[in-house]
Amino acid sequence: MVAGNDAGFDDDDDDDDDAEAGRADAPDDDGESCPLCGYFNAPAAGDTCNHLRAWVWDDVVEGSPVYDEFAAAWSDFSELASNAEDVAEFADNALGLAESLSLPDALVAYGHWENAPLDVFVELSGAAVGEGWTVSGPLGGSGYCVYLESDERADAATDGYRALLAAIDPGR
Ligand SMILES: [Zn+2]
Repeated sequence: MVAGNDAGFDDDDDDDDDAEAGRADAPDDDGESCPLCGYFNAPAAGDTCNHLRAWVWDDVVEGSPVYDEFAAAWSDFSELASNAEDVAEFADNALGLAESLSLPDALVAYGHWENAPLDVFVELSGAAVGEGWTVSGPLGGSGYCVYLESDERADAATDGYRALLAAIDPGR
């Protein structure tokens, strides 16, 4: 267990030991603290703060609706990009469309299929990533969560991919 304010110091200040009494008996391997509000999130137990947008466990993403919508729009766009005969030409076209639709270039830059949708989500939405945790034993694994204060940028990115898709392939 890491006591944030004492990190790096070995002094044993006896008064500080009571600071975490509230969860002194809680196992330290079942979740992580939200970087935004400090709430201890235990997603496996369904106990989370309202900033949590995705939970990754052994590389499987359990998304919230805002993440799932983003991932679907991003996947459609990156699929279109990966199927393009000339990828450079596709990117040039998409950049031109993004400009004419007043969308950020980053949508195209991160639209590449080699990226993982969650990484792109974090970049484009400005999400905070938790420090992660590990559970040992035969049923163990490791994971982390992704948190957002506001869905505004995530929703804007989702809408942006949808607008690009509609402009590139109106028949969709
Ligand atoms: Zn929180």
